[in-house]
Amino acid sequence: MDLMEYQAKELFAKHGVPVTLGKTVETAEDARAAAQEIGGVVVVKAQVKAGGRGKAGGVKLAKTPQEAEEHARAILGMQIKGLTVNRVLIVPAESIEEEYYFSFLLDRANRSYLCIASVEGGVEIEEVAKTNPDAVKKIPVDPGKGVDEATAAAIVDEAGFPAELRDQAIGLVVGLYKVFTEEDATLVEVNPLARLEGDRLEALDGKVSLDENAEFRHEDHAAFEDKAAADPLEAKAKAKGLNYVKLDGSVGIIGNGAGLVMSTLDVVAYAGENHGGQKPANFLDIGGGASAQVMADGLDVILNDPQVKSVFVNVFGGITSCDAVANGIVQALEILGDDANKPLVVRLDGNNVEEGRRILDAANHPLVIDVPTMDGAADKAAELASK
Ligand code: GDP
Ligand code: MN
Repeated sequence: MDLMEYQAKELFAKHGVPVTLGKTVETAEDARAAAQEIGGVVVVKAQVKAGGRGKAGGVKLAKTPQEAEEHARAILGMQIKGLTVNRVLIVPAESIEEEYYFSFLLDRANRSYLCIASVEGGVEIEEVAKTNPDAVKKIPVDPGKGVDEATAAAIVDEAGFPAELRDQAIGLVVGLYKVFTEEDATLVEVNPLARLEGDRLEALDGKVSLDENAEFRHEDHAAFEDKAAADPLEAKAKAKGLNYVKLDGSVGIIGNGAGLVMSTLDVVAYAGENHGGQKPANFLDIGGGASAQVMADGLDVILNDPQVKSVFVNVFGGITSCDAVANGIVQALEILGDDANKPLVVRLDGNNVEEGRRILDAANHPLVIDVPTMDGAADKAAELASK
């Protein structure tokens, strides 16, 4: 789960990283009140889960509460990288003397953590990496050893922070590492990490991605979820405990096992090329059980996606045999009744497949098309979706 800036800053504050929290508001009137309360010049900042807000016109200085209200009115409702701005953060405007870049991230390829730091901030880090790669330090961090003050000092020295900021920078690096590990993040990024008037070091922006697999040990993270922005189908699937990801195509996919579902996505995308470019509409893994209720829940989510034109149910019977899955499909269609209204291409294989197919044949449901092979079924589902 990606956090918005104001949420990231809450975590920064919790772990002692210097930030100014400011006020997050949802209306232009409240922006004015917040600016009034803060006093002086403020910055009005769009809160969306995307970078480059500054360039997109989502970060504006306001000298008066009136101006803050006007900027907020312009920014609220704005689209940044396809995301609608529903709230703005109002913070006191600081005068920035220098801008730096700092991040901790999970380095999957090297099975390690990585720290990226640059004192050549102020522009996009990708740009610095291209034009002046030596200015961007990549420092591996051993997850077993972590980052204590000595390691933080080594990082700060390698990054080349000015001597007069060294102690502050060390404290900040230790704090950010705490955010990274104690909150189970996969990314903690600060850009800009700013040197403010009076040689104060402060995180003026924050980007944090939390590892959803660790959700169970962070009850407080649930509050970060943006229910309004979440896809309603994904929210429904989540409530039913389904492993569902909405995609952009027209062929609904249900399978058992993440590997099988992923290869089903590939096979459908490939078959879809012969049918006007049909693509998978989702990822849905109903897991090993594949009971009637889970099948019904899965079909319910997929059939309610208006983009879905056909559904491909691809099940390989293992411990849960094909007859149990076939019964599950038949019962699911009974549970759904008239809500089941799109063709269902079913491919069963594996344990007790003959009995499974016999059950589907006997049920003779008008929407169900039984196709024995994965390629054949993918082709059929794509063809039906193109009609
Ligand atoms: P991003 O464009 O989405 O990364 O948003 P940022 O929070 O990084 O803001 C973009 C730019 O706005 C920063 O690089 C700063 O130059 C500027 N900015 C952000 N906060 C402040 C502030 O408090 N004071 C001033 N003067 N500039 C700010
Ligand atoms: Mn930024």
